[in-house]
Amino acid sequence: MIDNADNLWGRRLRDALTFATVAGSPAYAVSPYVRAGLPDFRPDLPERPDMPDVEDRSVAGVLDKLQAAGYVTTRTMLRETSSQSYLSDGRTVTAVQVLRPFALVGVEYQWSREADSRAIRYGHAYADRWEITDRSYIVPAGWYLVGEIGDYTAELVGVAGMDGDTDGWVFELEGFDASQCAAGCQSCGARWMAYGGSWHFDADDCDADAWDFDDADDIDDTSNTVACPACGIGRVGFDIY
Ligand SMILES: [Zn+2]
Repeated sequence: MIDNADNLWGRRLRDALTFATVAGSPAYAVSPYVRAGLPDFRPDLPERPDMPDVEDRSVAGVLDKLQAAGYVTTRTMLRETSSQSYLSDGRTVTAVQVLRPFALVGVEYQWSREADSRAIRYGHAYADRWEITDRSYIVPAGWYLVGEIGDYTAELVGVAGMDGDTDGWVFELEGFDASQCAAGCQSCGARWMAYGGSWHFDADDCDADAWDFDDADDIDDTSNTVACPACGIGRVGFDIY
């Protein structure tokens, strides 16, 4: 998906998403046309809707916060667990349209001993020291596809910059929509097909019996073959496409 990107801006969004998920402290989205300096991040100022803190542990959480602030709109293109596909991990592709360019500013807040004792005394105290730790590059307006893998936790694998709306584009990539699995034995010539992530094989143009991968004998992980359920002598290989 990344190799087939239309432009190189995906790298910018990828870096920004990584920035916001590993920051561990506030990461503010700011318009690149507005000068944002240290005084703008005073801890005792009210929250500014145009400078939201988008720090989150997950990419989806960061995108939600950017969306709430009107910087992006998102749409899930694909959400697939490994049991729904012939893949070892689940995968998610999210289409993101950046409506307004933004950059991220990382800010770290610290409490001095005086502020600490105020907090103890009054139950609350603002941080009295803060510094800008990092700034991301500007993420340009435009279309992006965000790819993540994993069934239970999502790991960001890449962002593709696209020249336009991308409905259906990922599914046209070779090998992306791996929805069929052909199985065949070289000894007896029996052939089977399975569809849609299922591991139940039905005979394909021959009179062999149907079978399930889980019931197969002698599974060889190195050659990715199993003993042929039809002839018992040959090996059955697989072709996912
Ligand atoms: Zn066979």
